[in-house]
Amino acid sequence: MTQDVYDVIIIGGGPAGLGAALYASRDRYKTLILEKYFPGGQIMTTDRIENYPGFESIDGASLIMKMQNQVETFGTEIKTSAEVTGLKKLDSGLIQVVCDEDAYVTRAVILSPGSSYRKLGAPGEEEFRSAGAGVSYCGTCDAPFFRDKEVVSIGGGNTAVEETLHLAKYASKVTMLHRREEFRAARVLVEELEAKAQAPDSNLVIRYNSVCTAIEGDGKCQSAKVKNVKTGTVEDVPCDGVFIFVGTVPNTDFLKDSVELTEAGFIKCDTARLRTSMPGVFVAGDCRTGADMQLITAVADGVSAAMALKEYYRDPNWWTAKEVEDMQPSGF
Ligand SMILES: Cc1cc2nc3c(=O)[nH]c(=O)nc-3n(C[C@H](O)[C@H](O)[C@H](O)COP(=O)(O)OP(=O)(O)OC[C@H]3O[C@@H](n4cnc5c(N)ncnc54)[C@H](O)[C@@H]3O)c2cc1C
Repeated sequence: MTQDVYDVIIIGGGPAGLGAALYASRDRYKTLILEKYFPGGQIMTTDRIENYPGFESIDGASLIMKMQNQVETFGTEIKTSAEVTGLKKLDSGLIQVVCDEDAYVTRAVILSPGSSYRKLGAPGEEEFRSAGAGVSYCGTCDAPFFRDKEVVSIGGGNTAVEETLHLAKYASKVTMLHRREEFRAARVLVEELEAKAQAPDSNLVIRYNSVCTAIEGDGKCQSAKVKNVKTGTVEDVPCDGVFIFVGTVPNTDFLKDSVELTEAGFIKCDTARLRTSMPGVFVAGDCRTGADMQLITAVADGVSAAMALKEYYRDPNWWTAKEVEDMQPSGF
């Protein structure tokens, strides 16, 4: 077992973890990132980011390389291929972070293991998985790449409806597939969606009882195979892109025995100071309740968690303070 005591261990080296590490290591805290694969997280798989301030357009890998260099310059240690399997509070008050082959001890933890988009499982989904090739899981991120193009969107929840309305601002035509007769999204959103679809010359078509069984094309997406689950009929819908909004799965299985999770697996927290149910353990990014699931909000979460950490070190009783709204803003 490694004997060093870290000031903070950050679990997950995605944007949230790197944002946290930048602030923690600039505060001269002994900071360790434990990363299951290699730094970067989900954004590594995209070749065009256009909504991160300061960069008109940048690919995920280049942005992450800059972030990684920056945190290492300030002394953050990064261990790759280090999958965390559990957390344990020690009698000393310190926290043990357990990996497959090692364990580390720390005064505090920032959880940033992110989440993964739920896959459709249709043939072609993996092959065309990038905004350039046509399959996307994020309308907010990729809608502008489909300006004046035809797209298919899939899903029935709040995110699916909101993202489809967003897509309709850019695409020339959006065909929305929902596998049931009725949406499960909030009524107010569904009304907006239906009103949009029924408007004269609308570019939005809703197909109920419809599923996508394959995404097809030559090098990039050209059509979606759509099956009506009631009639059994199958049709090819021509499209340049398929947006899949069938949910997200937080990477939090390993935390089941340590911090409180929602039924869907998101880490419960107070959204003002990002405290979890375990004293000394903060959370940041896509894995938490209320996350906006964007690059910039993940980074900002990491920063907020690292700043809250300082409050906790200054006064451990701070953890149980309930009146977060009365707390002084941190910062300069
Ligand atoms: C294809 C794609 C394109 C996107 N494009 C944009 C965009 O243009 N603009 C935008 O704002 N957002 C975009 N997003 C969303 C953005 O990438 C996420 O909101 C952001 O990455 C969330 O950061 P995070 O650090 O919370 O989690 P993640 O990025 O998911 O990072 C979590 C990290 O934790 C690691 N990890 C998980 N479990 C463990 C464990 N047990 N032990 C150790 N490490 C672990 C993972 O390997 C991963 O590296 C895109 C997402 C995708 C998938």
